[in-house]
Amino acid sequence: MKYVSLNDPNFKVDFKEAVLMGQAPGKGLFFPETIPELSIEFLENLKQYSKAALAFEVLNPFTEGCIESEALKKILEETLDFDFPLVPVNESVFSLELFHGPTGAFKDVGARFLSRCLQYFSKENSRKFTILVATSGDTGGAVADAFFGLENVEVVILFPKGRVSELQRMQLTTYGKNINALEVAGTFDDCQAMVKQALADDNLNSKFQFTSANSINVARWISQQVYYFLALQQWPYEKAPVISVPSGNLGNLAAGMLANNAGLKVEAFVAACNDNKAIVDYLESGVYRERETIATISNAMDVGNPSNFKRILQSLSKNKIKNLKGYSFNSDETRNAIEKVFRNDGYTMDPHGAVAYLGLKRFLEENPGNAGLFLETAHPAKFENIVEPIVHGSLELPERFSHYKDKKSVAGRIPPNFAALQQFLLSEN
Ligand SMILES: *Cc1c(COP(=O)(O)O)cnc(C)c1O
Repeated sequence: MKYVSLNDPNFKVDFKEAVLMGQAPGKGLFFPETIPELSIEFLENLKQYSKAALAFEVLNPFTEGCIESEALKKILEETLDFDFPLVPVNESVFSLELFHGPTGAFKDVGARFLSRCLQYFSKENSRKFTILVATSGDTGGAVADAFFGLENVEVVILFPKGRVSELQRMQLTTYGKNINALEVAGTFDDCQAMVKQALADDNLNSKFQFTSANSINVARWISQQVYYFLALQQWPYEKAPVISVPSGNLGNLAAGMLANNAGLKVEAFVAACNDNKAIVDYLESGVYRERETIATISNAMDVGNPSNFKRILQSLSKNKIKNLKGYSFNSDETRNAIEKVFRNDGYTMDPHGAVAYLGLKRFLEENPGNAGLFLETAHPAKFENIVEPIVHGSLELPERFSHYKDKKSVAGRIPPNFAALQQFLLSEN
């Protein structure tokens, strides 16, 4: 399998190179040259596969030639070492809980897969890797946890000052060792622009073997397909589900669409957004315009110019995607949904899942006779400041991430420009 740059159809590399490069020259996104077709036999017998065996069937075509079968199986067993339950909220709405990993966010999956791929590749490559990552909240924590303590990998995480939750901040800043946190006095888009510029900078590239851990990295991106299949494995109805994805940088949605193009049965996708709705506007008007980032209570989706947009376009150009709808909801609507679902159904949603819930409800109202699932991308207790006052109760923080609370938080502070990042990197090494 080759990966081709969406900026230049002549630029093709294999999986390993795509992972190590992060992005193609000129900030191009990698996309599979041909999308594998999963066999009917596999698609109709999902229930017979263990998580790792299912993931192997889905991902092996994407890594073939770069990771040996046995090694890939082991990587997948480690990556998927937690539960992905599909929980009924009511008869037509299900929640795919993606928050049972070590940092309570769906990004654990992609980050763990990427870290283990890099570990595998570093055996063949004696140079040290530097992972540069911009986070709007959850990516950084997942990456910090997945990479902490790995040999030959240094991690630098940029996060926007004042725009991540307290727990997220602790998850970013308390690991230490090979994990460096940088608090940027700007927005997530600033952080992302700084990372992209560094990855494309000749001088820095002569000194560092960079790679990116953002959802643009193909290892993160393609591995997110797996839980869509795990959802289908648990889906109780004959008719395929509508799947609503709480969307920011659009990596998660683009992975679902990739899975759909490979054969996953889906009735329709919903791109559920908060006030940052570049994709919703595009689907309505056919015109893409990047926006200023607007701060909301679902902060991991506060992205004005989503970096996976071109992958969405590319996926749409394949004819298998039947339906993609976009809706946006503001913070008040999101709060009301959390309250209502808690009161009526006894289910507690986090603000990101709640946006996806709203998108699913809207689609089901407009298209009766369907049922669907929304991706619950974060544990509600990660957003206790928002959720607790709404449900008038206290949320229990799972043991696996309460330990951050007593640790020492360390972060560098820099202004939102490339020169500051450059200076930090050069002074560290
Ligand atoms: C990152 C994140 C999202 C957005 O996912 P994208 O792949 O960037 O669209 C949604 N919810 C949570 C909790 C997240 O951390």
